[in-house]
Amino acid sequence: MSELAKIDIKYLKGVGPKKAELLKSELKVENLEDMLYVFPFRYVDRSQFYKIKDVDSNMAYVQIKGVLQSMRTIGEGKTSRLSGIFSDGESTVELVWFKGAKYIADQLKIGVEYVMFGKPSFFNSQLNFVHPEMETVNSAEAKRTMGGLQGVYNTTEKMKNGFLNTKNIQSIIFNIMQTHMATYQLPETLPAYLLAKLNIPTLDTCIRNLHFPKDKALLEKCQFRMKFEELFYIQLQLLQRNSIQHKKAGFVFSTIGNYFNTFYRNYIPFELTGAQKRVIKEVREDVRSGKQMNRLLQGDVGSGKTLVALMCALMALDNNFQACIMAPTEILATQHYISISKMLQPLSIQVRLLTGSTKTAERRDIHERLENGTLQLLIGTHALLEDNVRFKNLGLAIIDEQHRFGVAQRAKLWAKNTCPPHVLVMTATPIPRTLAMTLYGDLDVSVIDELPPGRQPIKTIHRTENNRLGIYDFVKKEITKGRQAYIVYPLIKESEALDFQNLETGYEQLKGIFPEPQYHISMVHGQLPAIEKEQEMQKFVNGQTQILVATTVIEVGVNVPNASVMIIESAERFGLSQLHQLRGRVGRGAEQSYCILITSVKQAKNTRERMEIMTSSTDGFEISEADLRLRGPGDLDGTQQSGMPFELHIADLARDGQILQVARDMARLILNNDPNLETDENRILKQQLQKKAPAIDWGRIS
Ligand code: ADP
Ligand code: MG
Repeated sequence: MSELAKIDIKYLKGVGPKKAELLKSELKVENLEDMLYVFPFRYVDRSQFYKIKDVDSNMAYVQIKGVLQSMRTIGEGKTSRLSGIFSDGESTVELVWFKGAKYIADQLKIGVEYVMFGKPSFFNSQLNFVHPEMETVNSAEAKRTMGGLQGVYNTTEKMKNGFLNTKNIQSIIFNIMQTHMATYQLPETLPAYLLAKLNIPTLDTCIRNLHFPKDKALLEKCQFRMKFEELFYIQLQLLQRNSIQHKKAGFVFSTIGNYFNTFYRNYIPFELTGAQKRVIKEVREDVRSGKQMNRLLQGDVGSGKTLVALMCALMALDNNFQACIMAPTEILATQHYISISKMLQPLSIQVRLLTGSTKTAERRDIHERLENGTLQLLIGTHALLEDNVRFKNLGLAIIDEQHRFGVAQRAKLWAKNTCPPHVLVMTATPIPRTLAMTLYGDLDVSVIDELPPGRQPIKTIHRTENNRLGIYDFVKKEITKGRQAYIVYPLIKESEALDFQNLETGYEQLKGIFPEPQYHISMVHGQLPAIEKEQEMQKFVNGQTQILVATTVIEVGVNVPNASVMIIESAERFGLSQLHQLRGRVGRGAEQSYCILITSVKQAKNTRERMEIMTSSTDGFEISEADLRLRGPGDLDGTQQSGMPFELHIADLARDGQILQVARDMARLILNNDPNLETDENRILKQQLQKKAPAIDWGRIS
């Protein structure tokens, strides 16, 4: 810990208890060291000064040196504004303040030389600046902000109201450097050999230059170092935790036996793809290693994860263990049960389904058979987690669409045997590699990056509400060819606040457009009782209905290969990953499939961008990268519920993938040579890890 960490921020000159409180609540800053880690999120070039005559309203921020000639308040009360005339010696321009006019009027002085910094705008055919930053030339020079790049800090509305804007933050940091850091060097936090190897500056140099950059080249080096360091320690911690000596003991599935081989040789419905084979091999290696498997299987929608899950379950059964597969919805669990028990029929394996709607007698029978071991494979929903579901010898637990489950629920499966079973979690939410490396750093990751052969890419089209009739005609043509269609709505009940098409009125309209007896429509949504949901769904699966109107309950896993059209209403309301999931419901057979995204005619820029990504890419990983870029990692599907297990100060997972890779490689290299970080030169790593350890909330990572 540096000396600065021992000094409470409220004792710094110019801070005081009120601002200290704000710094704490808004930025989690408690001491001087914390303050130094509040970094600018961008820099503006203050090396150049403009003349008023050279400025036009298309320019971004500019700075001008000059004096205030006059000031006056125009209007009264809420609509009043402060207007100043600013002169650079050759010409003049108006400066305007709407907010805090009185305070600003008190601060500014006529005739004093200022550096005015702001964004030019055009009003009443006159150039002006609204809410420019004003700093006396003396103070600007003292902070070296005139020489070049100046940091801009994030602030909140609350902070601004408490006089903590970006300039105030800069002043506070400047103050720390002038007083406490004038003769004090921040202690280094990385080993010397790493600094040399990566050719990066010391911590002290970096902190000073991030706030007050000497020049652009040095700033970039310093940014690299700080991002690297942040990601490096996370990787070091993850990899150390995940290293072989930290893994738990696990059951050994020593043989590939009768079930697996018979199924593979005689009953497998299709040739496995290369990627499916590879994943099965990876699991095979895990389950005979003597350590507990904790593996994440990522595979885009339709990549064939179910079959992989089944073959892994057979490995457990072959070794006289039981296995279970848990899915997030009843529809999905039922579907798995139907397809898996069909595939397993010739092997006479005991498979059962357990969900919330399983009848008491059936449930009792399942419980009994689980405990006496005659039931080999259990498929179900959350119902599986209940305490009275006890296995004789559970060896493998598979969780489908794992992001739908909370960590606590996953943890319950671990407790279903005396020694925790092997765990395979599967997801079709393709988490970008960078995020997976960080978020699931303690899981081993397998990827199915290949779709089964013969699939035609889905054609995705963006249309507006005005095109609906044409779209319905198209659906009719597809139905005539024998195909089926999904129509998905975002809402279940009409919401007064939101003027969106909703399921029930949509359904009524659709019944008029697709009348019986020629057409039949099913409808499912979250509020339908399970039995009805199941019946409606089943009608669509059997082909009795040609159209399924639904909310996102069908998002995960549903498999009806004959469906060739997916229509998504109010597509702007869905996240990219969700749209991709929904689209994945079609294109599962050999026929050409279509996804039609319907939005309102008027679209926000962000909506247009997102629709463009959807129409130009069918690659789930690419889409999730784009999602990450547009929304930031905190909002990413699949991480939303759990949040990020740690906060990043400076690194950005969407942009700093390469730095992350360097950090990971370096961490791995170091741990390979010195697993417990015991050498002299690595002692600093161990110390830093201990200091940073609580920063990662392991409870959020399964
Ligand atoms: P997901 O990965 O989305 O769970 P599924 O397991 O539901 O995908 O598989 C999607 C479809 O592809 C199913 O109809 C399945 O039977 C089929 N499938 C799976 N593996 C193969 C394969 N190797 N060859 C051809 N079709 C396959
Ligand atoms: Mg699936």
